[in-house]
Amino acid sequence: MNILILGSGGRESAFAWKIAQSPKCQKLFIAPGNAGTHQYGTNVNIKVTDFEGIKQLVISEAINLVLVGPEEPLVKGIHDFFLADEQLKSIPVIGPEALGAQLEGSKDFSKQFMLKHGVPTAAYRTFTKDTLQEGLTYLETAGLPVVLKADGLAAGKGVLICTTLEEAQHELTQMLAEAKFGDASSSVVIEQFLKGIELSVFVMTDGTNYKILPEAKDYKRIGEGDTGLNTGGMGSISPVPFADAAYMKKVEELVIIPTIEGLKKDNIPYKGFIFIGLMNEGGQPWVIEYNCRMGDPETESVMRRIETDFVDLLQGVAEGNLNERELTISPKTAATVVMVAGGYPGEYLKNKVITGTENVRDSIVFHAGTSTQGEDVITTGGRVLAITTLQNDMFTALQQATADASRIYYDGMYFRKDIGFDLL
Ligand code: AMP
Repeated sequence: MNILILGSGGRESAFAWKIAQSPKCQKLFIAPGNAGTHQYGTNVNIKVTDFEGIKQLVISEAINLVLVGPEEPLVKGIHDFFLADEQLKSIPVIGPEALGAQLEGSKDFSKQFMLKHGVPTAAYRTFTKDTLQEGLTYLETAGLPVVLKADGLAAGKGVLICTTLEEAQHELTQMLAEAKFGDASSSVVIEQFLKGIELSVFVMTDGTNYKILPEAKDYKRIGEGDTGLNTGGMGSISPVPFADAAYMKKVEELVIIPTIEGLKKDNIPYKGFIFIGLMNEGGQPWVIEYNCRMGDPETESVMRRIETDFVDLLQGVAEGNLNERELTISPKTAATVVMVAGGYPGEYLKNKVITGTENVRDSIVFHAGTSTQGEDVITTGGRVLAITTLQNDMFTALQQATADASRIYYDGMYFRKDIGFDLL
């Protein structure tokens, strides 16, 4: 098969690494990719939202399967675009159609879905500009802290946790009346705060059958000890000790089965990944959010633990016979440490030459925000590299990933040295 991966981050690097190992993969393309992905296939400089450009590539390179990395093209309907095109409609796209992608694209849609299908989630109400006054009054009784979520996609910035009523009322007004997050905050979900440990659960589905991929924990804050600003993700670890077989059974019964059944009942076709963000509160899973794609930097750890052929699983999704495909998962621990640019997640340094990747001993260096400039590899994004290792035990994995990250250098380089240590 000729396969096209859409995206340019660490997640897509990990997909490319895994897919390139499959005997079923003949040619692999990554659009647009980064300075690392060309080790596994051919980079093509086309944006993930340039549907016409993607169409030309798919036709000219005789692509047999498209794997969509990020949410934006899914929410914008890339799968629907393929289905509506005579030349593309027989080419499978891994990732849901726009309707299914609403599970991530609209917080209100996903909360209604959870409520309707009995998936445990925090109590909530949704408000618009017209009901701002009601929203301000609702906040008076909602309890603190309280969570405000812009309904639409806001590049991971649309969730605010407010600790005082004044702050919550101010932010709600900013979001609804002043369009703080543009169109994304024309509706706002006000949600009860959940206290506990977060867990990322990944499900692959053909719309009827599903497989549960390795779970992971990610680390969102920039600072050690989970302090400072939120980022796209500073590291991940898989497996997660508290997510043992009994806990995952609970997640499957209370969350995964009702979700898959709910999609079927609501006639929402879904071929792709469902990334379920959970809060573990006293041994009970509560769904914080759905995403319509894999997580980053969780994918880097997840891919390292999948032992079977990933392309075979993707084919199962495409053909609707995922139940006939095999998934074996390594019992070892994967750890990922993300190296970021100086200043990130604020204004950050760019175009710094990266050295030392050849000194890494027992990790894979997945590229994220990198480009090539002549002979050099330079930083171009906030999250630059993801260093992922697979070891027999968690302590060695954490130590190895951190040690390998410190063998790499660029001006302003930063990474957290405490990823996963809270779980030991
Ligand atoms: P989301 O975009 O919905 O994943 O929210 C981003 C982050 O905000 C989550 O990863 C959580 O850390 C936090 N968060 C969201 N909803 C809640 C909630 N109801 N209670 C506590 N924390 C939350």
